[in-house]
Amino acid sequence: MKTQATKLNWLSENLKELGSKGLLIQKRVIESPMGAKIKVNGKWVLNFCSNNYLGLANNPLLKKAAKKAIDKYGIGPTAVRTIAGTTKLHLKLEEELAKFKKTEAVITFQSGFMANLATIPALVGEGDIIFSDELNHASIIDACRLSKVEVVRYNHTDTKDLENKIKSKLPLNIPLKSKTLIVTDGVFSMDGDISPLPELVKLSEKYNAILMVDDAHGEGVLGKNGRGIVDHFNLHGKVDIEIGTMSKAIGVVGGYVAGEKVIIDWLRLRARPFLFSSAMTIPDVAACISAVKILQKSDKQVLKLWDNTKYFKEKIKGLGFDIGKSKTPIVPVMLGEVKLAQEFSKRLFENGIFAMAIGYPTVPEGSARIRVMMSAAHSKNDLDKALEVFSNVGKKLGVIS
Ligand code: PMP
Repeated sequence: MKTQATKLNWLSENLKELGSKGLLIQKRVIESPMGAKIKVNGKWVLNFCSNNYLGLANNPLLKKAAKKAIDKYGIGPTAVRTIAGTTKLHLKLEEELAKFKKTEAVITFQSGFMANLATIPALVGEGDIIFSDELNHASIIDACRLSKVEVVRYNHTDTKDLENKIKSKLPLNIPLKSKTLIVTDGVFSMDGDISPLPELVKLSEKYNAILMVDDAHGEGVLGKNGRGIVDHFNLHGKVDIEIGTMSKAIGVVGGYVAGEKVIIDWLRLRARPFLFSSAMTIPDVAACISAVKILQKSDKQVLKLWDNTKYFKEKIKGLGFDIGKSKTPIVPVMLGEVKLAQEFSKRLFENGIFAMAIGYPTVPEGSARIRVMMSAAHSKNDLDKALEVFSNVGKKLGVIS
């Protein structure tokens, strides 16, 4: 045991160091359904933390669909999709998603993270090149690493920088066979700004690059009925790969890739999480189908989400807070130092508002913030209460005057 202790000393030292910098993650235990109000560590608070954009996480129709599917199929498929893990429901979900996204086909995965890990290494390999926005999600970064491809990071949303880098990397005599991939988040998860997708489409056409967008935070938020960023910019048919997650606006869990049939057919044969990790569970699939149908039918919740977002952003800016470059329901209240952000979050919580402090390594050092997540589930009263508490805490901590 002694050797073991010495061998692992570096872990306790690292944990101690993170603790001294205030970088340990506090355990928050939820004891209620996900909604505008939730019970956290025994206390009811207003929830501004989750990605439950449309309030679907505890929707009666989704719950009913999940229960009905459990009665018919049980719970776990206990097999990967290519062996015994494809039920009729899995195919139905892919069909409904393809209709919703207006793409030829869809393939589902166990999560959005998995969808990224599955896709990039299946499409590019040694000798190819990836151009990736410097603030892309961790799952894109890991997927790029897995693919063993040269990765060129371009400045955040800077299409001039991207083109310069493409030009310097792709001389005219580039071997015809090598592939180029441009990959970007649609909505950036920590800042709430939006990728300049129309310009990326132009560059992808000019340089014959495959274009991939991770629409995790655009789904249910941007576009008609929440169809996502491609619909928002009316770029149907021009973006090769759309990555989606069903863990946010859809209110469940799971990931998918939407695109041309030829891409999806390829992923069914080459995407390793599809081949080697078990299929999504039955209740999740059934609940996702129900959520997609709700979105197809009505944009009521999407409009409510935007109404809440506009109201809250205007008021919080009016109080004097800096909310960065946000263009979406992700509202980062910029505070700078992580200790200040954590103290802010603690005081919010004591006053009934649950909004998390985000620090390094999730965001760059010195740019810690409270990330406030809007939801259609919030009432105007909920938003007013949050604004009042933000104002009081902000004044006490000297962030606003
Ligand atoms: N991509 C982006 C941009 C995300 O924000 C997230 C979730 N944090 C993911 C992918 C991963 O999605 P999931 O939670 O479904 O694994």
